[in-house]
Amino acid sequence: MSLSHGATASNGASNGAHGPVTVCLSFDFDAISIWTGPRGSRSPNLTARGEFASIGAHRLLDLLDERSLPSTWFIPGHTIDTFGDVCARVASDGHEVGYHGYCHEAPSSKRDEADERAILTRSMDCLERLAGGPPVGHRVPGGNCGDRWISLLIEHGFSYDSSMARNDYAPTWCRLGDVPTTDGPHRFGDEVDLVQLPFDWILDDWPYFSYDGPTVQGLRTPDHVFDVWSAEFDYLYERVGSGVFVLTMHPQCIGRGSRMLMLERLIDHMASRPGVAFATMEQVAEGFRSVSAPGDRANRRL
Ligand SMILES: [Zn+2]
Repeated sequence: MSLSHGATASNGASNGAHGPVTVCLSFDFDAISIWTGPRGSRSPNLTARGEFASIGAHRLLDLLDERSLPSTWFIPGHTIDTFGDVCARVASDGHEVGYHGYCHEAPSSKRDEADERAILTRSMDCLERLAGGPPVGHRVPGGNCGDRWISLLIEHGFSYDSSMARNDYAPTWCRLGDVPTTDGPHRFGDEVDLVQLPFDWILDDWPYFSYDGPTVQGLRTPDHVFDVWSAEFDYLYERVGSGVFVLTMHPQCIGRGSRMLMLERLIDHMASRPGVAFATMEQVAEGFRSVSAPGDRANRRL
């Protein structure tokens, strides 16, 4: 599989032993929306945690600028309306922006289609105002996206979703029409025209770093997270040989000093490997589209 490449690592001449390994740095810029939306909080303490995301975002943008690295930001409309200046910087610095709800709403069986359409349209309007064009990338805010939501994304011209991972290191195609069963094998639906880029909690900073009281006590050390993330990357590079490595980070988590230093160390580690490139998720999705199509026989590796 050949993937489109963005910025190449500084010493990135290929050693010939590896296929392309592409790193996608992605940021879910939830800010205050994750506290006021799905959690229904009106607490000034939690608002402050969300507010810190704007400081973390500037630190991340400084780091990306210093190293000329591309990245992808999934931004709720609420964050665009609340923190307009830093969101404008994300776009003007050339980073990709993608869909993440208006106030972090998960598509849900409790909503009707009209409600889902209204959220999708309002959020897309915010992103279009920010970036000058409609988003092509989608990450579902903290939940599942069923067939109706996937169909809406295709109808609205999205190129890819990044909310699940059937394959940890490779793009796949989304499916419609799966039938879960308990008295026989799972019935798989048909692949559809929406690329699936890997997302998994193991490469997400929230469970490691967010402290949500008794349920999520994620105050892991930066060294712990470096060990997990660098080993996941090393397995891709040394054993699998080619693919995409998608990191998901939240400015309100990763933006703390100790974690920023860990992220710098991890970027240095990945960039030191010959042949590694950094790209936006849109670029990776388009690269996959150039070599694959929904329903291709080669996709059947189950
Ligand atoms: Zn989120």
